[in-house]
Amino acid sequence: MTRKYNFSAGPAMLPSAVLAQAQEEMLDWHDSGMSVMEMSHRGKEYMSIAAQAEADLREVMDIPDNYKVLFLQGGASSQFAMIPMNLLAGGKGKADYVNTGAWSKKAIAEAKRFCDVNVVASSEDSSFTTVPAFDTWKLDPDASYVHYTPNETIGGVEFSWIPDTGDVPLVADMSSTILSRPIDVSKFGMIYAGAQKNIGPAGLTLVIIRDDLIGDAIEGTPVMFQYATHANNDSMYNTPPTYGWYLAGLVFKWIKEIGGMSAIAEINERKANKLYAAIDDSSFYNSPVDVECRSWMNIPFTLKNADLDGAFLEQAAEKGLITLKGHRSVGGMRASIYNAMPEEGVDALISFMKEFEANNS
Ligand SMILES: *Cc1c(COP(=O)(O)O)cnc(C)c1O
Repeated sequence: MTRKYNFSAGPAMLPSAVLAQAQEEMLDWHDSGMSVMEMSHRGKEYMSIAAQAEADLREVMDIPDNYKVLFLQGGASSQFAMIPMNLLAGGKGKADYVNTGAWSKKAIAEAKRFCDVNVVASSEDSSFTTVPAFDTWKLDPDASYVHYTPNETIGGVEFSWIPDTGDVPLVADMSSTILSRPIDVSKFGMIYAGAQKNIGPAGLTLVIIRDDLIGDAIEGTPVMFQYATHANNDSMYNTPPTYGWYLAGLVFKWIKEIGGMSAIAEINERKANKLYAAIDDSSFYNSPVDVECRSWMNIPFTLKNADLDGAFLEQAAEKGLITLKGHRSVGGMRASIYNAMPEEGVDALISFMKEFEANNS
């Protein structure tokens, strides 16, 4: 068996060590005589798995006690609606959004179904290759919250700073950047992420939300879409995505073993820097993204001669480097190098790029 280096934006690679452990525990978890998939979510075995995963995440991200961690379903996309449903009541029916690309736009479109959306800043003029400077943001002090996308997965644009929105809660779609570097959770009202990029398998959605933002959903919000429902029931109001939660727990343990967020960040920065250096050092490849806001996780690049795209992808795949095709809206290539992409995978991509350039220049 050879595992390929899979550069998919999501679902993405999982650490081999995690998959091997899951395999070992597949038929019989810790002498329980059951697979995790077969356990009652209310049984003592599963309750211990769930609690341990949350404890490890809290440790790894240093999550303050006044934040709840929710293990939900519906993907980050459901959060685009749950956020306005849960955060607008008591306010003036207004929310601030920053538009830095494809995912911001989807969040904005959904919020418009519930309230007046004020787009406080946008990088659309630059085709989303940068992030708008904070001193240009037109924040509204009456907004119920400010929403932004710290890492745009498609454009490969990442904030290297956290906006200071004062008393207005800051809400962040961290789907493709969570757990990639240390973050100060206390600066946020809420953080959310679909699991399939840096957490675990698809089907699990993580929400980290400050206590005081829970419990005041707008009238008519279905029970399943209220954060309070999940917060008051330890995310077990209904059957949670049990296996995804378990696998996420194994990933959190794996992060701890590597040395936690600062060790992970060091590796991620090194991986990203060497790939950007390979792109910048050549006249064959190009990165469209402003140097100041280049993502550590998703690295789009183009070939100067787009006629070679097909050959590039084909020959990369022959070397076990797969899913490098860029998003259809951007074109070219995109290498997603989340935590589970080994550094050797990035090295293999770089040497293939050099070889391909030499053969085609
Ligand atoms: C992948 C992604 C989403 C969508 O996630 P789903 O879990 O598929 O709903 C939303 N936002 C960002 C930033 C993403 O990378």
